[in-house]
Amino acid sequence: MEKTMPIDGRFELMALPYAAEALEPVISANTLAFHHGKHLAAYVNNLNAALPGSGLEGLPLEDVVLKAEGGMLNNAGQILNHNLYFGQFRAPKADNVPTGVLAEAIDKDFGSFEAFKEAFAKAGATLFGSGWAWLSADGDGKLVIAQEPNAANPIQRGLHPLMTMDVWEHAYYLDYQNRRPDHLAALWQIIDWDIVAVRYQG
Ligand code: MN
Repeated sequence: MEKTMPIDGRFELMALPYAAEALEPVISANTLAFHHGKHLAAYVNNLNAALPGSGLEGLPLEDVVLKAEGGMLNNAGQILNHNLYFGQFRAPKADNVPTGVLAEAIDKDFGSFEAFKEAFAKAGATLFGSGWAWLSADGDGKLVIAQEPNAANPIQRGLHPLMTMDVWEHAYYLDYQNRRPDHLAALWQIIDWDIVAVRYQG
């Protein structure tokens, strides 16, 4: 995984790789404006404010996640989580499925893409409170689905994160209110499987 380096001791708010309206109607421009422009921006500002004197200045974001504790860990983890989340989308597409080596791995480890989606949706829907559902690869390349609470990231457990769905209410409440499963089901239309495949093979 390519590491995220600070510039002059500060992490930057990631630029969205698509227009604010590009993910509609799955994720509205309004939700993106708050989720990326307010929530993620706050995590970036909080971490940057905490870095001086922490002993973790100059480290890549991924190393901060592995070494920090408390509030610094929460903010660093949320930046890493959101960078992976916002970086994996593109405009809605019907019949949006993975291809190539990644598709073969999904079939091998979950039986089929449909079975994978069902297991992943269940992980997202049943995660109590705030957190993230993840598709990751272990050290042998085997794919695993996991729930991570709050700001946790699979790298803390030695896994390589590939794709994620944010189940914090701030990710969907403006568009879906309490209907988290409906939001998660819609997200399959905008997953950029080419990017997930690059993460898998990278
Ligand atoms: Mn979020």
